[in-house]
Amino acid sequence: MSRRLWLVVGALVVLPVLVGSVAFVLLVGRADDARRAAELSATARAVSADVAATCRELGPASRALAAEAAVGDVYQALDNAVTASALDYAAVAYADDAVAQRGALPADVAVRAVEPCGEAVTLPVVAAVTPVRSASSVQGPRRIVSATAARVVDAADLRAVVQSLGLRGDVVIADGDEPLVSTLPADTARDVAAAGGEPGEAARADGRIVVGVRVVEGADLRVVAVQAPRSRVPLVLAAGLGVVVGCGLALPLGWLLARRLLGPLLDLADASERMASGDLGARLPEQSDDEVGRVGRSLNRMTAEMREYHGRLGEALGSTHDLAALARVVLESAMAVSGAQRGGVYVSDSGGPLSLVATRGSAPGEPEAPFTLPPRLAPSTGALGSVVREGREVYARLGPAAGEAGDGELAPGPGEPAGAYLLAVPMRGERSAGVLALFDKADGRPFGATDAAALLDLSTSAGTALDNVLRHREAKKLSITDPLTGLWNFRYLSMSLAREIERATRFERSLAVLMLDLDHFKQVNDTYGHQRGDAVLREFAERVGELVREVDILARYGGEEFVLVLPETTIDGATMLAERIRLAVRRSPVSGAHGEPAIPVTVSIGIAAFPGHGSTPATLMRAADAALYEAKGAGRDCWRVATGPAVGRQADGAAEHASEAGR
Ligand code: GH3
Ligand code: MG
Ligand code: MG
Repeated sequence: MSRRLWLVVGALVVLPVLVGSVAFVLLVGRADDARRAAELSATARAVSADVAATCRELGPASRALAAEAAVGDVYQALDNAVTASALDYAAVAYADDAVAQRGALPADVAVRAVEPCGEAVTLPVVAAVTPVRSASSVQGPRRIVSATAARVVDAADLRAVVQSLGLRGDVVIADGDEPLVSTLPADTARDVAAAGGEPGEAARADGRIVVGVRVVEGADLRVVAVQAPRSRVPLVLAAGLGVVVGCGLALPLGWLLARRLLGPLLDLADASERMASGDLGARLPEQSDDEVGRVGRSLNRMTAEMREYHGRLGEALGSTHDLAALARVVLESAMAVSGAQRGGVYVSDSGGPLSLVATRGSAPGEPEAPFTLPPRLAPSTGALGSVVREGREVYARLGPAAGEAGDGELAPGPGEPAGAYLLAVPMRGERSAGVLALFDKADGRPFGATDAAALLDLSTSAGTALDNVLRHREAKKLSITDPLTGLWNFRYLSMSLAREIERATRFERSLAVLMLDLDHFKQVNDTYGHQRGDAVLREFAERVGELVREVDILARYGGEEFVLVLPETTIDGATMLAERIRLAVRRSPVSGAHGEPAIPVTVSIGIAAFPGHGSTPATLMRAADAALYEAKGAGRDCWRVATGPAVGRQADGAAEHASEAGR
């Protein structure tokens, strides 16, 4: 979650801060360049104006010198001119090439006339030369022909001009690309002059800003002002510091902002994931009134319902001990969860075959007909069999006919619905196994992994519940059956006798009880051993069991005594059965395994009927016991009917009915 959050914080905050800082550096740099270019332009113009002004001043100075020298003392005139016009050099040339002069010019410079100064500009010398033709100037052979007034413009002059105006920058005055005067070293001055570009435009040379200005329109003479490249380091440092501070401020802000914007969505996603993975306790934020709040509220409502549903299902799974009811609950829940339209549950009990215990839904295309599946699931064939074979969930479409399958389809076995979409999951318990099979979603779409995953939870609980049912069944059986013979035990006898007497009383039906006791059984044990005695008891139970009806209750009363409760049976029916039992027991001795001697057995039987011999379990049993005592007294291997209500053991043999002693 926090990765996504950080991405958003980055996108929302850090990126703009970074971009802003870079833009700041660039823009400030540009603004600075523009400002400096403007300043340099001013510098160049100032120098240019100064040179032009010098030109203009020198013209009158040279004319004044010419006039004064013609009428007066030449040297006096030269001195006056130098002083009055601040000349570096003044000269008067004679017709015989002699020159009277004051000051000096640089040795290698020849003074030549250059427009537009009108007179002479050969920087670094700016000079005005005035020709003299007047006859009055002729003083003998020394006729004056011209007067020159000149100033030398050097680096110090240029600096003075710039500084006097409070400007900055170095200056190069160039004729074309040739530097004439410069405040820079000669090499640099040449580069700058070459890079000066079009006058009036800022250019760059080696990171310097260069601005050129023509001294006078039309002339090749340019003044180029230049400024050394200013280091960008402080600006970049400032920007970096800005980024750090900006991010430091922006990150917490951005985090807060992103949490406010995205937090609920991320919480929603987290909680949904937890819900999807089965944590129904997860709750979504639902405080806000926006879409997130609405989604949260509805998902919470949904999970609350699912929790309740799960709770009810869990209860049902835990409480029912009826296999069919359990299968129904599981099937209904599975159909609700998956949206399946029909389904069935197969269950096998301790390794036995898988039998269909529940189905739901109607046959495909026939809303009136109940959905059917094969009553037994054969693990060797069919799509359902593949669940058992592979031991895991299966979801696919079934082929068009039994045993046929197209691409990605499973061949249906006999009786499995051809063409249906199937989702089947195994239900596994410790002592039970089952298959939960679902067919055809209501929306017509195939089952998928999500459906299967949703069912696995349910099928696991179902497997445990199945175990519980079977365990309960077993425990119940253990508590009411006799482990040696498999007959009902005394506890079950007591319960069912009470129930049968109550029923017989309510509906005024007949009911009889037989009490059976093997004769001289002590001797059997003594002669053949207890183990053979046990075998005799089992054989006896089997023989009697074969003679009685489903509704009769045959129970081992204790030791070698048995009780048979006969609903809907009169004395006559009871005596007939007693006789059949007596004969079946004595008919053949109980045979033993490999050469053991066969054991002859006989049984004595007491008979009592409801309500004549007793109308409660206790009195009826006492009457039967008394009759049995009589049979024993009569020599055994016979039956006797009780003599009357609440007959005691001591009552002697005035029985109306008595079996013939068959010995
Ligand atoms: P009768 O009933 O004919 O009077 O003689 P009996 O020898 O059967 O009489 P009694 O009731 O005194 O003896 C019952 C014998 O049954 C005693 C006991 O050794 C034997 N017995 C009781 N329960 C079992 C059992 O579970 N297995 C075996 N092998 N013997 C049992
Ligand atoms: Mg006995
Ligand atoms: Mg006995």
